[in-house]
Amino acid sequence: MTGAGPARLAAAVFLDRDGVLNRVVPRDGGAGSPRTAAELELVPEAGAAVRRLRAAGYLTLVVTNQPDLARGLLCPQAHATIMERVRAAAQPDDMAACPHDDGHGCRCRKPRPGLLEELAGRWGVDLERSFMVGDGWKDMEAGRAAGCRTILVRTDYNTGVTADAVAGDISAAADLILGRAWEPRN
Ligand SMILES: [Mg+2]
Ligand SMILES: [Zn+2]
Repeated sequence: MTGAGPARLAAAVFLDRDGVLNRVVPRDGGAGSPRTAAELELVPEAGAAVRRLRAAGYLTLVVTNQPDLARGLLCPQAHATIMERVRAAAQPDDMAACPHDDGHGCRCRKPRPGLLEELAGRWGVDLERSFMVGDGWKDMEAGRAAGCRTILVRTDYNTGVTADAVAGDISAAADLILGRAWEPRN
């Protein structure tokens, strides 16, 4: 079949932030999120990985849960500063954060797919040709719920989590996406 049709939707790589683009912060025996700019430690390979994905035609869209905002443990100013530093370092196409906690029942807090769907609507994304890369079960569940393929960044705190594929870090996740004949055909 040939001929003019509607403009083809884009493929995207949705990226979790904490544990993917920046390091988690050890806190209370678990993996926490940075609450100050001083606690933010960027993953050095993140910028290059995002650049490779974008060069291959993928939109790169960051989706992050930040319930410490709702809990009063992360001030909005520090949150804005951290987001801006991650944006400057990784240079994704867009970023969106859920500021809520479980009790709010919002649609955007992963494992719900609301953040992915919001960005997909904004950018014209074909979710079925897209990927979710994250380090937690909520990322994988949100990706599945949105219809994306899922790649887990494997760490010592997520050994029980399942996904379509597993990678050691964001750079390896980009290798997987770019090496498996899953190239977007925009
Ligand atoms: Mg994470
Ligand atoms: Zn939310």
